Amino acid sequence: MKNERDHASIILKKGKEKPVINHHHWIFSGAIMAMPRCGAGDIVPVKSFSGDLLGHAYINPATSITARMINFDDASPLDSIRRAIQAALKLRKALFNERTTGYRLINAEGDGLPGLIADWYNGLIVLQVSTLGMERLKRVIVEILCKELNPIGIYEKSVMPGRAEEGLSDSTGVLYGTLNEPVEILESGIRFLVRVTDSQKTGFYFDQRQMRELVKDYAGRRRVLNCFSYTGAFTVCALKGGAMTVDSVDTSAEALQQAKENVTLNSCDTGLSRYFEADVFEFLRVTHDAYDFIILDPPAFAKKASDVVKACRGYKDINRSAIKRVQPGGIILTCSCSYHIDATLFQQVVFQASREAERNVRILQRHHLAPDHPVNIYHPEGEYLKSLVLYVE
Ligand code: SAH
Repeated sequence: MKNERDHASIILKKGKEKPVINHHHWIFSGAIMAMPRCGAGDIVPVKSFSGDLLGHAYINPATSITARMINFDDASPLDSIRRAIQAALKLRKALFNERTTGYRLINAEGDGLPGLIADWYNGLIVLQVSTLGMERLKRVIVEILCKELNPIGIYEKSVMPGRAEEGLSDSTGVLYGTLNEPVEILESGIRFLVRVTDSQKTGFYFDQRQMRELVKDYAGRRRVLNCFSYTGAFTVCALKGGAMTVDSVDTSAEALQQAKENVTLNSCDTGLSRYFEADVFEFLRVTHDAYDFIILDPPAFAKKASDVVKACRGYKDINRSAIKRVQPGGIILTCSCSYHIDATLFQQVVFQASREAERNVRILQRHHLAPDHPVNIYHPEGEYLKSLVLYVE
């Protein structure tokens, strides 16, 4: 920047341009020398200290991530958004065939679209908007999605704690077309009924798709315990994989009811499955049934960085109980979707749990997010799910 002050752009502090040049989407308040004269949610050019244009971002001065980049060049921001959506859809077309009709269409920064999640439920799109900047772009996004995909309906389910920080209240409702619940989706040929309005997240955990394949592979002739079973996606896969029995445990009676429906829908032998409305921590302590395969897929115990110590205690607790309980030669699939607990820390927790359970434990496999949740190499913060397959002697 020379002598004239540029009032329309974000000007970064000297030396703070590197992450943006490296295509990282977030600009923290501490990196900004001067903010433009415009309102929260507006899209503005972003310039280095020396005045070079680095791209465009939408801003929200009320949040610590003050700006989020939507392109890294001089293209029109709306053109860039359209291209990013088209690229996201192209990837999904390459990943799935007609045997899978439910998946994540747009994975926020992973698809170059900060603040936006869109899931595809066999013709119905469920949107989650987490930032003010994206909220402003919602109409444009809906238009583009309608043009590209011709959906039956678009339903917004923007219910997340981060919205309050952005100055937004929760927002739900039909944005386009109609919503007929439940929707039925296919995943690798398996049928699932999904209720998007009265459910967790957008309705279904697509991020665990790879692990569901793995559960099918390991379940054969085993007695399976599916902890935190939600609507029974792992339960159905275990039964399809030839499990001798599958017990599902969740605190939500509605989720368990839907799990039963999904088991029936897939013509699985309903006599092989049982359902327990219970707290997993308690259930694992008191159950005396023998299991050869235990699945632990809890909700995120660490929602923020300050939760990490307590969350590790929770992960250790359930892993220790499962390792103690599983039969010799048994398998455990243990997962964590806490972003603040990385793969190394999670493995340390499982190490401690194994020591305390006094069993020999070996890692057979590691698994991560399903590929419709791409992680942008320039934005590794998109990685959150990690899983270990353990063999317990
Ligand atoms: N494994 C599931 C997703 C799990 S989501 C799938 O693949 O679809 C987490 C689930 O844990 C939710 O259904 C929630 O109701 C349940 N839950 C949360 N805390 C729990 C607890 N302490 N005991 C049992 N279930 C719990």
